[in-house]
Amino acid sequence: MSSDHIKIVWIYPDLLSTYGDQGNTIMLERRAALRGIPTRTVHLRSDEHVPDDGDIYLLGGGEDRPQILAAQRLRKDGGLHAAVQAGKAVFAVCAGYQILGHEFGGEEGQPLPGLGLLDIRSGRGERRAVGEVVGDVAAELNVPRITGFENHQGVTSIGPNAKPLAKVVAGVGNGDGQGFEGAYAGHVLGTYMHGPALVRNPALADLLLYWALGVEIPPLDYSWAGRLREERLNAVLPAT
Ligand code: GLN
Repeated sequence: MSSDHIKIVWIYPDLLSTYGDQGNTIMLERRAALRGIPTRTVHLRSDEHVPDDGDIYLLGGGEDRPQILAAQRLRKDGGLHAAVQAGKAVFAVCAGYQILGHEFGGEEGQPLPGLGLLDIRSGRGERRAVGEVVGDVAAELNVPRITGFENHQGVTSIGPNAKPLAKVVAGVGNGDGQGFEGAYAGHVLGTYMHGPALVRNPALADLLLYWALGVEIPPLDYSWAGRLREERLNAVLPAT
């Protein structure tokens, strides 16, 4: 954290914000506030420069055309590259996740250049993956089973310099036949989960706050978000 508050940068809400992804900003603000940590959120439109003084950068999902435009602008801008080089936390969903990689499939499946900030490659799959996803998260992240909603045509493969975020328990996730969902490397994390993902998975929000602060944060009591998470998990994987 570079100042007395955590600065959250919500990248391009005018292009990338589907299925309630903006709720991710609200969840970070709330989880920080409950611990007495002030936040400031910037809603950064796509004609603005990505600042390098953010602490957590968020990208949401998007339709094919806005996704292509967002990738072009972010590549030209370079601000997100500088933030990643400085070790800032990045959380990206679906189209935002694909954009972080080396390439992604355009509206006709044509390969288009991404930002190269996460070692993943995406293309266009045969079928659209739509529905609930559940995954067991990589042990080192210390995050319990995650749940979300996916709606994407893209298929994503993880290269040697990134790790899978989770092993798929239900749903499709990355869809490349490896059985994984999402990817991460350093403080950059991407997922196909909407929902919004941080609201459904408070521990993921806390992981980002931890990355931003650089120190452990105290756990919070059981919350409405915890109940939402359980309700969704039970709906997808009913207790037997
Ligand atoms: N357009 C991308 C795809 O279909 C991302 C979709 C999304 O962000 N929901 O794969």
